[in-house]
Order: sequence, then C-alpha cells, then structure tokens
Amino acid sequence: MRLVFATSNSHKTEEVAAILGGAWQVEDLRAHPGIVLDEETGDTFEENAIIKAVSGSRQLPGLLVLADDSGLEVDALRGAPGVRSARYAGENATAADNRAKLKAELARRAMYSRFAGRFRCCMVLARDGEVLHVTHGAVEGSLITREEGEGGFGYDSLFIPNGFTETFGTLPAETKNQLSHRARALAAMKKKLASLR
Ligand code: IMP
Repeated sequence: MRLVFATSNSHKTEEVAAILGGAWQVEDLRAHPGIVLDEETGDTFEENAIIKAVSGSRQLPGLLVLADDSGLEVDALRGAPGVRSARYAGENATAADNRAKLKAELARRAMYSRFAGRFRCCMVLARDGEVLHVTHGAVEGSLITREEGEGGFGYDSLFIPNGFTETFGTLPAETKNQLSHRARALAAMKKKLASLR
C-alpha cells in the first residue's frame, strides 16, 4: 500500500519507513515536487500536523497522506522551542543554527548542566482533505549543553532519553526508532493504518 508522508525531511521519512516495515511503500514530497503545503500557522503540533495532512491530501486525490509535526520542549525555557523548533534561530535557520541557539539559551542558565525536556510528535492521517485519525507521542529526557554524536538530525545530539546515558545522536537508529516521539505516535497510528489496507 502506498503512503505519502507529507515532509521533505529525508531523516523523518527514513524513520517512518523503518518503523512501519515493508507492508507500506512510504514516499514523501520529494516524489511529489508539485505539492505545496499550506503554511504552518498553528499554535500546537496538532494544528500544524492537520494543516499539512489536509492540504497535502487535497492535492493527492485518493491517496493516504500522513503528516507529522514535531519538536522539542525544554522546561527551563518554558516549553521553547516547541512548535517553533524548526525555526528557532530564524525563518531560514539550519539545524546547526537552531542547536547553537539552544546551547546559548541553556548556557545562560548555567546553574544546571542538564535540563528536563521532551520531544513531542503529532501524526495525522488524511485522505482527500478529510482527517481520518490523529495520534500523539512523546519521549522524556534531558538536554545537555555540548553536542554528542553525529547520528540523527535536528536536536538529536543534545538530547539524552530517560533511562539512557547517550544522546539520540550517539544511540543506534534502531534504539531511537523504538522509543522516539515519532515511533510512539506511529505505533498508535498503526491500527488505523492496518484497517485501511
Ligand atoms: P517540523 O518539520 O515542522 O515538524 O519541525 C520539526 C523540528 O523539530 C525539526 O526541524 C527538528 O528541529 C525538531 N525535531 C523533530 N523531531 C526531531 C527528532 O526526532 N530529532 C531531533 N530533532 C527533531
């Protein structure tokens, strides 16, 4: 079965394809270059995931479209970067710019070396502009102030999931894909997906 994942982030697509396994042929917007998603104007991960899934599926008639909106929340930063995770250091910021900004913000709170936080993900499945199912996932952990590891993407090299001593940037992809926010949201989505096969 075909599933279009409404992202151009190849890292996210790799994770989703690995988590779903061979039953689904996962393609993303790189295979559909004409699709333009509506702007992410929501204040929550759920609103933004709905915007992406609905606008993407309207342009791909009959196809199942999955969208995720995700990000990092740091308690000491009152939940920032949150829904602005991809744009934390500015509209055209790179992942490295965003990590630099996060490290600078954490360094200003120098009384700690570890900061409680979590990754959150909302997944929305839609077809022909209609929302079929919404799920959520989160992984709790700590933010550190020095990057560790080259793997993953985004803020992975600064995040140590609870119960582990290494960052998502160092842990094997298989480990991240068992416990990540995206894995958990997708696990909750699997039953719905199975009912549509
Ligand atoms: P989105 O593409 O609008 O959902 O933005 C998600 C942003 O949150 C990404 O650009 C990353 O900065 C961050 N993010 C989300 N999930 C992860 C993850 O699994 N690892 C590291 N950073 C993540």
